[in-house]
Amino acid sequence: MQAILAPTTCSSCGFVLAWRNDLLYCENTECAAQISKQIEHFAKTIKIKGLGPKTIEKLALFSIMDIYMLDYDLTAIALSSKRLADKLFIEIEHSRGATLNQLLPAFSIPLVGKTATEKLSTTISYLTELSMGKCRDAGLGTKTTESLMDWYEDEWIGDLEFLPFNFKFEKPTEVKRTLGTVCISGKLTSFKTKAAATQALVTRGYAVKSTVTKDVTILVNESGIESAKTKKARESGITIVTNLLEFIGDTNGNTA
Ligand SMILES: [Zn+2]
Repeated sequence: MQAILAPTTCSSCGFVLAWRNDLLYCENTECAAQISKQIEHFAKTIKIKGLGPKTIEKLALFSIMDIYMLDYDLTAIALSSKRLADKLFIEIEHSRGATLNQLLPAFSIPLVGKTATEKLSTTISYLTELSMGKCRDAGLGTKTTESLMDWYEDEWIGDLEFLPFNFKFEKPTEVKRTLGTVCISGKLTSFKTKAAATQALVTRGYAVKSTVTKDVTILVNESGIESAKTKKARESGITIVTNLLEFIGDTNGNTA
């Protein structure tokens, strides 16, 4: 029997390996195997399909930037297929719309994944606004902040910043301004159905909720019964409407 010795150097680049949590890692930033893994992680995270290790090798990609510099004809030759090249180009084209929310976890920055990205999106809108202070305000730890700032200064500025993205966090969907939020309680008399009333309200610019939530400003109660719900609504300053048709000022009366 022969003892199995752990390798001391990277089989891809020959760099001396380092132990990290009982696993050997190649820490050479120029190592082809490491770069290939980073490109693969990037493509996977921002959903570029078809960029696995073999394709990365065939296309001789050595950086994320290379993905966006691919030449169509050379790609078709390297993949021996126009159909695959077409597919890949569509995927790459589509990826240009990636938001910073998707991008930041894609760069293999140590300690910076979805959680840190989400936190950061609360304090900055564009990556160019990044600073130690903004990281602190976002609640990122010292090590995460250091890792992110190192990447930003060493790899993003002057290099990755030229990638075809706007590096902008996606804005939370804006709440559409409405005339008010209506909740219909009980049976209606001025409309045949709740559905018809809802449609009439929505087309006039009201929002409609099925229960009395915090954002409800108008409660419709045509039954005349002062229910507990109505009483509570009245006490919290919600407008009580006893005839919806009159309230929305429908003069032609066709909706009911
Ligand atoms: Zn290596």
